[in-house]
Amino acid sequence: MTSLSGTPFAPRRIAPLAKLPVFFDLQDKLCIVVGGSAAAAWKAELLAAAGARVKVIAETFSPELEQLAEAPRPAGTIALVRRVYSAEDFDGAAMAVADLETEREIALFTGLARAAGVPTNVVDAPGRCDFQFGSIVNRSPVVVGISTNGAAPVLAQAIRARIEVLLPAALADWARAAKRVRRSIGNCFPNPRRRRAFWEALAARALSGDPVSPAAVRPDLGRPPPGGGNGSVTFVGAGPGNPELLTVRAIRALQAADVILFDALVTDEILDCARREAKRLLIGKRGYRRSCRQDDINETMVKLARRGKHVVRLKGGDPSIFARLGEEIAYLKTHGIPFEIVPGITAASAAAARLGVSLTHRDCARSVRITTGHGRAGGLPEDLDWAGIADPKTTNMFYMAGRTGKSLAERLLQNGLPAATPVAVVCAVTRPQEEVIHMELGDLLEWNGHSLSEPTLVCVGGTFSLAVGRAAAGRDHARISTQLVAQL
Ligand code: SAH
Repeated sequence: MTSLSGTPFAPRRIAPLAKLPVFFDLQDKLCIVVGGSAAAAWKAELLAAAGARVKVIAETFSPELEQLAEAPRPAGTIALVRRVYSAEDFDGAAMAVADLETEREIALFTGLARAAGVPTNVVDAPGRCDFQFGSIVNRSPVVVGISTNGAAPVLAQAIRARIEVLLPAALADWARAAKRVRRSIGNCFPNPRRRRAFWEALAARALSGDPVSPAAVRPDLGRPPPGGGNGSVTFVGAGPGNPELLTVRAIRALQAADVILFDALVTDEILDCARREAKRLLIGKRGYRRSCRQDDINETMVKLARRGKHVVRLKGGDPSIFARLGEEIAYLKTHGIPFEIVPGITAASAAAARLGVSLTHRDCARSVRITTGHGRAGGLPEDLDWAGIADPKTTNMFYMAGRTGKSLAERLLQNGLPAATPVAVVCAVTRPQEEVIHMELGDLLEWNGHSLSEPTLVCVGGTFSLAVGRAAAGRDHARISTQLVAQL
């Protein structure tokens, strides 16, 4: 086959699939379960939850099954039949499940089922199954099934746990509401492009974690609101760079965004977590480089929100730490734009984790200070409380101090902090280019600004001594393990 331009037409191939995921309608269908074990009980409950009429056939039943048969049931039915099963039991069954002991029993069961044309599942015998039950994430009518084709059930559970966290509980309500309005939306939007825009906007809201409201499932959801309104700004903390350190709420906000205005500190891997259709605008501000004016950023947010857009203002680390959040919020308030703040992991917390220390280690610190090392004029800020900063019982985290390390050291020494105070310079923490340099305050005097293209945190205080970290960790560990052993 050739395309219009004459080049051969290559159809897209589907990569081999270990199993075909299909979603079976079991409403009011007969399913049989052979065996009276707890595992059989679990399967019976699953089938009934999908609306099946379940007949469990066995000579004896586990307490789980006895309870199950008596419990009130929101969907399907479970009947216990106390006898040996026979070929007739398969008549009219949609599927058959068994929990059997011996190879002979299994062979008999699968033989009879096959003769009756009924697909089978045998507990703990994957090689003898026509179909397998995957791990399930249930937001009915949204159902996610996960299979590793028996490679690693624990992996399937771990995947399930992740998806559970990602899909908000309210998704079920959104999906039900979507089903209700499906036909009328088709009539409201004969134009397929407009119709798609409606469904895309609805999908974004459904994944945002917001509860469904009747107004939100109206046909005008997908249209730019006449004369503005409806838009909002969500400030989202992107964390130190590694997407694993995004919060669940941050991912939901990114998944629900129409437009993302992001800082230069935000990594590509984090932007990859955003909704594919979201427009992305770099409005980076980085200490010594050209950047957008704050006024332009403020105005852009307001203009977009007024056009009904869900704007995500994505900032590195936590939005409340050295990120001009105060100014941006004030501007939105003045212009009546609703906003929300999603906190993120600030560079100081990420650095502490990387260094394996506590910022408030009892032996070293009574307080933690987060201080900017970059004033308006380019050097150190002039109005810092040096006496407080040089308190030896404080852990100091200097942000934006990549180029001012030397003058920082001078001021700290002048204010009485010992030259032997431990220092850790942490660059690009949690990113592939991450670098950590340990030194003493005296050495910082000689330090000439390392890795300036990367964000750098200068950490000063007793807790950054390698010796303190190790001794304390050893001691705590010893104590905890003694307690644990005593409890066993
Ligand atoms: N809101 C951010 C801070 C923005 S100010 C937060 O909460 O982390 C920018 C400064 O943050 C950088 O100059 C650097 O000092 C620090 N920083 C941000 N990300 C960093 C990272 N991944 N590694 C080291 N320092 C970082």
